[in-house]
Amino acid sequence: MIRVASVAPDSIAADLELPVGTELLSVNGRELTDFLDWEFLAADEAFLLLARLPDGESVEFDIERPEGRPLGVQLEPPHIRRCANRCDFCFVDGLPEGLRDTLYVRDDDYRLSFRYGNFATLTNLKPRDVERILEYRLSPLYVSVHATDPVIRRRLLRNPRAPAIIPQLQHLAAGGIQFHTQIVLQPGVNDGPVLEQSLSDLYRLADPVLSVSVVPVGLTTFSQHDATREPTEAECRSAAETAHRFAERALVERGHRWVHGADELYLNAGLPLPPADWYGDFGQVENGVGSVRFLEQRIAAAGELPRLDGRRIGVLTGTAMGRLMPEVLQTLSQATGGSFELMVLENDLFGPSVSTAALLPGRAFQRALAGRSDLDLALLPAEAVNDDAVFLDDVTFDELAAAARVPLRLSHDFADALSVGVR
Ligand code: SF4
Repeated sequence: MIRVASVAPDSIAADLELPVGTELLSVNGRELTDFLDWEFLAADEAFLLLARLPDGESVEFDIERPEGRPLGVQLEPPHIRRCANRCDFCFVDGLPEGLRDTLYVRDDDYRLSFRYGNFATLTNLKPRDVERILEYRLSPLYVSVHATDPVIRRRLLRNPRAPAIIPQLQHLAAGGIQFHTQIVLQPGVNDGPVLEQSLSDLYRLADPVLSVSVVPVGLTTFSQHDATREPTEAECRSAAETAHRFAERALVERGHRWVHGADELYLNAGLPLPPADWYGDFGQVENGVGSVRFLEQRIAAAGELPRLDGRRIGVLTGTAMGRLMPEVLQTLSQATGGSFELMVLENDLFGPSVSTAALLPGRAFQRALAGRSDLDLALLPAEAVNDDAVFLDDVTFDELAAAARVPLRLSHDFADALSVGVR
């Protein structure tokens, strides 16, 4: 069942006076089960919508949508499909109380994979889900493969019922679906020859597999440390070398590198990051693959930034980017005349091994900025908040900004925050 959460002004739904709370039941007689049904079935220029108003009355609307006129219906958030696995490296179960609600959800939802690029294992797909993926052409999907050997994959996912992934991908690929895939490396389980095998199997699927990322497992304080561990420098180096071999082969045979190591893989291996052109179209940048090179490109593409002579700007980030930031800040300083202070924050909530800025809690920024009044501006990583500007520990950006003694801005790439200058 799907329900109207809000109606945009100057839209078809506003013309129909569709009240908030209306249940959308069917389009042209087809039952609506979720937002996908609504988006795909209501995409026609004309359709019959059966709805139940909040007072219980059922109404049929004969809808015609002139070109370019929005329907204007915002739906209530969907029920998330829960994960059926129990990976040793999953930290959700052990999270402390008081964090952002969505962090406690172990989602494994092909719909969110299509819509937002969330990785899904596809282990909880029912025949009806497969039909929908094929009917609605939900492509590309983001798939956590981890290992193509069914026994090893079941062990990794701690799910004895996990179906074999290669036949699943083949079946979907035959219907035109493509995939971005990831392999999270658990040392001694899916690295070495298992990684070779997984990459070979995925490579054989050819065009439907658009990309593969190799990501070292990242553990937090709440992970099951007795069951798994992070890969060593040598293990990361070996995995990076394997990925490079497949990448070079793909470049020769297919014209693009296809498989990439995550930035963390190179950092942990003590290897330099590949240049920007290594990453092609940065298809998995949201997964930490090429994010440093992507950032550098965005800064360069922003063109001329305003002069910031005499200004002091604090740049707060996690330990992963902290290692790479001095080079970037030197470039920025030369371009603007501003003085940039790097403030590297260790993650005291999830533990120091969690190095991404995206998982820094709001309180870490609060502590770092406490007593600081000597900056003209402090830049915080935009990926640390959700769409409502809330950090994962439920601290809001507005609360943080109100308490800070220096102006704060969220920034993805510096240019977005600095192009308006610093007063
Ligand atoms: S697939 Fe594994 S890591 Fe992902 S949510 Fe499920 S149990 Fe956690």
